[in-house]
Amino acid sequence: MPAFDIEAAFERLRTFMQRYPKAAMFQLAAEGYDSPFEQLISCMISIRTYDETSLPVSRRLFAKAKTPEAVSQLSVEEIQTLIKASTFADRKAAQIHAIAQTLVDQYAGELPCDAEVMLGFKGVGPKCAHLALGIACQQPYISVDVHVHRVVNRWGYVATKTPEKTTAALAAKLPQSHWIETNQILMPFGKHICKQRPRCAICPIEPMCPKLGVG
Ligand code: SF4
Repeated sequence: MPAFDIEAAFERLRTFMQRYPKAAMFQLAAEGYDSPFEQLISCMISIRTYDETSLPVSRRLFAKAKTPEAVSQLSVEEIQTLIKASTFADRKAAQIHAIAQTLVDQYAGELPCDAEVMLGFKGVGPKCAHLALGIACQQPYISVDVHVHRVVNRWGYVATKTPEKTTAALAAKLPQSHWIETNQILMPFGKHICKQRPRCAICPIEPMCPKLGVG
């Protein structure tokens, strides 16, 4: 099997995916919610929650409070009411309030572009920290969700069993210049085209795709 041409794949998808909705956090960044704090909080809100729900929930919270200072002045109950459509709203509200309060108390009210700081907060895992660092801080991080994991394995670009292993395999192989667009392009591509039941008939990658594991 010839090596998968990743450059050609990104080239085709960059144009093709413009007609589909952006991944949630990229959409929020395009609307101006692009600080590390806004990106991290909106990613937490999106956990186990569809984009269609998490996007308006993030906008509602930020309309009320968009800085650590402003969020710390809300009560946990107020945050919970604002984000109640998000899954695990009660737990997330307490975590979001705690993050805002810590930033006010220890970081002069700003979330630094620092992976260690982000990962030190309860409720923040590698996926959200890496997305916030990539989008808001322009740091080279790959964030692999189930969609990215499925796509790059079907391409035969990696051969891995879990998103965590895919992250490591991509970090070793994929040029850094593609890391942020892996999140930006492959997440919506996996959601809308290379789905569990892939839409190969309309896929721009079809002529070059080995379709590994596709029934
Ligand atoms: S051709 Fe099918 S399996 Fe390959 S990337 Fe496109 S949708 Fe996915």
